[in-house]
Amino acid sequence: MIRTRFAPSPTGVLHLGSVRTALFSWLYARRHGGQFILRIEDTDRERSTPENVKAILDGMQWLGLDVDEGPFFQTQRFDRYREVIDQWLAEGKAYHCYCTKEELDELREAQMKAGEKVRYDGRWRDRKAPRKGVDPVVRFKNPLDGEVVVNDAVRGRVVFDNAQLDDLIIARSDGTPTYNFTVIIDDYDMRITHVVRGDDHLNNTPRQMNMLEALGAEPPTYAHLPMILGPDGAKLSKRHGAVDIREYERQGYLPEAMLNYLVRLGWSHGDQEIFSVDEMIELFDIDDVNHSASSFNPEKLTWINQQHIIATPAGKLGEMLVPYLEQAGLDPSAGPNPEHIAEGFHERADTLLHMASSARYCYEDFEVIDEKSAKKHLRPVVLGPLKAVRDRLTKLEHWGPVAINEAVQSVAEDFDINMGKLGQPMRVAVTGGPVSPPIDTTLWLVGRERTLARLARGIELVEARAASAS
Ligand code: GLU
Repeated sequence: MIRTRFAPSPTGVLHLGSVRTALFSWLYARRHGGQFILRIEDTDRERSTPENVKAILDGMQWLGLDVDEGPFFQTQRFDRYREVIDQWLAEGKAYHCYCTKEELDELREAQMKAGEKVRYDGRWRDRKAPRKGVDPVVRFKNPLDGEVVVNDAVRGRVVFDNAQLDDLIIARSDGTPTYNFTVIIDDYDMRITHVVRGDDHLNNTPRQMNMLEALGAEPPTYAHLPMILGPDGAKLSKRHGAVDIREYERQGYLPEAMLNYLVRLGWSHGDQEIFSVDEMIELFDIDDVNHSASSFNPEKLTWINQQHIIATPAGKLGEMLVPYLEQAGLDPSAGPNPEHIAEGFHERADTLLHMASSARYCYEDFEVIDEKSAKKHLRPVVLGPLKAVRDRLTKLEHWGPVAINEAVQSVAEDFDINMGKLGQPMRVAVTGGPVSPPIDTTLWLVGRERTLARLARGIELVEARAASAS
């Protein structure tokens, strides 16, 4: 059974880079009918916060990255870590190191002076006698020679020399376990078969594999994902992508679109750009992940979001739109069913927040008409057609797009003008600006009462203009 995990540290929020890691790990499990486990690596108690834990859990829930087990919290597993440390001490796989800070500083200085790599020299490896007045750390006895070969599913074969690795501290002098150690205990206990993570962890892997071997465990398969860079080629910054994933939710990105965008950072399937979540699960494989870094492109994310908005059925989109209408300060009950807004606007909005704010005139009256549009379109020549269309619409029995279209069309015919010549002045009067869905849809969404009142106001404006011109 394939078991993958996502193991974020709640020292920060869930951002694009970590979501991509979670996604690839989740997809791999889903694709192979395996299990996906969530583990919160919160042993850094100073920098881990409950708010960040919440940001991670909320973000994953919003994205639909469901877990089969967890969240497990490392801070609740200290007894288990202690147990292994004691066992390794007893078996001689780990040892107490009583070096003082001064001694380590001296060692570092001497190594730097000699142009050597700074590393612990193993001086307590075989010493037994404790030293008074020093709280020891515990170090893992790393093999002194030989190689560690990582057959990485993304990077291929990567070889490390044991001679380059020093004896890692696995417990600090206060007894708390350290990062690489807790990771391997958990990967072992949680029976993880595939570790998918960022390639900033590649250098930890040989140490982790040595420790797994000390546990008598087979190492999992590793897949180290390349970095995501900012559009400027530098590390992802706050300005680009390194923000809480919930910020994208707030802006009206669809969770499927986020996943679709992220799956393409490092993975491809021919030249296909748009994937449903089911398609991703069906097609994804870790062996197809590219090992070069990819860069974050906000425009492409927005384009993908728009494609998903277009593809989402109006009923569902309408439901999703409700909180965004509220966020835009609108009362969803003061206008059309949001499902109808979704139908009318889905081709022209790249985010749900954008859709909600573009539909403002359907829920709320406005004071002023855009001046430039009024000047251009509400001119005396349209007075006759505007009045005629208002009269025709007043008499409509059923307020629907088809009937509205017929009414507008017949007035345009009567006056021998094309639909646009009539539609644009109507649009400006009814929406306050020059852009909206097709005029029949627009009027339908704005509703009978508001449409007629706004047309009347537009007509007054044109009359006043005609009067002042004559
Ligand atoms: N907690 C680590 C991080 O957030 C991940 C460790 C791992 O995946 O092995 O970067």
